[in-house]
Order: sequence, then structure tokens, then C-alpha cells
Amino acid sequence: MTYVFATTNKHKAAEAADIMSRASGGKTELLTLVDIGFTGDIDENGSTFAENAFIKAQAAYEFCRKHNLPYGVIADDSGLAVKALGGAPGIYSARYAASEAGTSGNSPDADNNALLLKNMEGKTDREAAFICAVCYIDDGRRIEVSGSCDGVLLTEAKGCDGFGYDPLFFMPSLGKTLAEISASEKNQVSHRSKAFRELCKKLG
Ligand code: IMP
Repeated sequence: MTYVFATTNKHKAAEAADIMSRASGGKTELLTLVDIGFTGDIDENGSTFAENAFIKAQAAYEFCRKHNLPYGVIADDSGLAVKALGGAPGIYSARYAASEAGTSGNSPDADNNALLLKNMEGKTDREAAFICAVCYIDDGRRIEVSGSCDGVLLTEAKGCDGFGYDPLFFMPSLGKTLAEISASEKNQVSHRSKAFRELCKKLG
């Protein structure tokens, strides 16, 4: 089965494709927004991960139908919620440094990580969670699922794999950060793997 995954983030696309392919015994293929020629901007103006996932899925679904692309559409909105920062960066995870500087658009991972470390200076409670909300839309169904994984924030980056905040996110259950494990290991334990595996179950 082929679906559109409403993202231009290559890391997220690769993770979701691997998770869904494994969960469906190799029967699922994901196309991205680049693959379907979607070049518009999607205004992620929701106030929750779930609202933003719906906004992205709906925009891509409307584009597909307008262009006679008969696919079901999946979108995820994800990010890091840090307890000592009241849940920040949360839905602003991709644009954390930019929004704190009062500018728009996503920020480079290095800038987001540097700001996170700065804002965590002196904090002893370093608990954090990655959250992933997924919305699926086709002509008759709207499915919403989510997944999370718990960890603690290090005071310096460790590991070179993964993306985003992975080098700062240490999982006590693994004894490693998400940037120190392979892509296939991350896809067993991550917030995204939990949400997308749940979606696969519901899609049947
Ligand atoms: P979105 O593309 O609007 O959902 O933003 C997701 C942002 O959250 C990314 O740009 C990262 O900063 C962060 N994020 C989400 N999932 C992960 C992950 O698996 N590892 C590291 N950072 C993540």
C-alpha cells in the first residue's frame, strides 16, 4: 500500500518508512511532499501536536485530491517536552532558537540544541519526553494516534546518528542517547515508532 507522508524532513521520512515497512511485512511505501510535487507552505498554527498533525495531513490530503492522487495521507507533528521548562520547546521544537530570537522558520539542529543546553543550565531535574502525534486521512477515515518515549537531558551532546535533539536525549533503559544507537534500534523504541506502529494496527 502506498501512502503520502506529509513531510519534507528526510530523517522523519526515513524513520517512518522503515517503521511502517517492518510493521506491514514490507507492504507499505511512503511518498513525501517532495515526491508528489507539493511546494506550498503549511501554516502549523495549532496549539497541540495533534492539531498540527491534522493541519499538515489535511493540507496534503486536499492537494492530493486536487491533483487526482488517490493516496491516504499521513502527517506527524513531534517534538521534545522538557519538564523543568514547563513542556518547552514542545510544538516549537523545530523552530526553538528562531522563535526565541523573534524570527520565523525552522532553526538548525545545532542552534536548537545550544539554546536547550543554555536554558537547562543549573537545572537538576533533566527529565524530558519525545512526543509524536500522527494523523491519517483518506476519503472515509480520520485516524489519530500518538507515542512518547522518556529520557533525561545530558549536559553535552553524545553520538552522531539520528537528528534534532537526539544527541542530548539519554535513555536510561538503553544507557545511551538516541544519537548513539542505530536507526533500526531507534525505530524499536522511539516516540515515532510507537505512534506509527499503532497507526499500522488501525489501518489494518
Ligand atoms: P515537526 O517537523 O514540526 O514535527 O518538528 C519536529 C522537531 O522536533 C524536529 O525538527 C526536531 O527538532 C524535534 N524532533 C522530533 N522528533 C525527533 C526525534 O526523533 N529526534 C530528535 N528530535 C526530534
